[in-house]
Formats: sequence, C-alpha cells, structure tokens
Amino acid sequence: MATQPIALGPDPASLTCPHCHARVTTTMKAAANTKTHIIALILCVCLCIPCVCIPYCCDSCQTLQHYCPNCQAYLGSYAN
Ligand SMILES: [Zn+2]
Repeated sequence: MATQPIALGPDPASLTCPHCHARVTTTMKAAANTKTHIIALILCVCLCIPCVCIPYCCDSCQTLQHYCPNCQAYLGSYAN
C-alpha cells in the first residue's frame, strides 16, 4: 500500500502515523520558508535591521510542519 500524501491544516491533526502506525495527534513546529525570508528582506531594506526578526517570530509567515509525537517522523506541512 502506497503512502498517500496527508492533507494537513494549520491545526494539529488526528491521524494514523504511516511510520509507526499509532493513532496520534500531530505535534507542530513552525519553520521559516521562502515567504519568511522575502518579508525579512523587505523589512531589512525598508525599515531597520532589528525588524527582520519579526517574520521569524510570526507563525503566519512560516510553514507549519506536522510531526508524529510517537516516533518523531515528519508527516507533512501546511504553508500559509
Ligand atoms: Zn509515528
């Protein structure tokens, strides 16, 4: 059986982990993506250097990554 891509949203999802086959609720981590870097660059050019940290602290500017809390496997991501 092929592993199907998992449709994941901005909230923790309840699913069966394809790696350890446990029924889990995903844990989420925010990761910087291209949009984060672009916003940081714009802030750097237009405003001031300390502002570039803003997009890295703002979840809406980052990709949310879902992980299995049981086996720590990466399950998928949700890009805003
Ligand atoms: Zn797992």
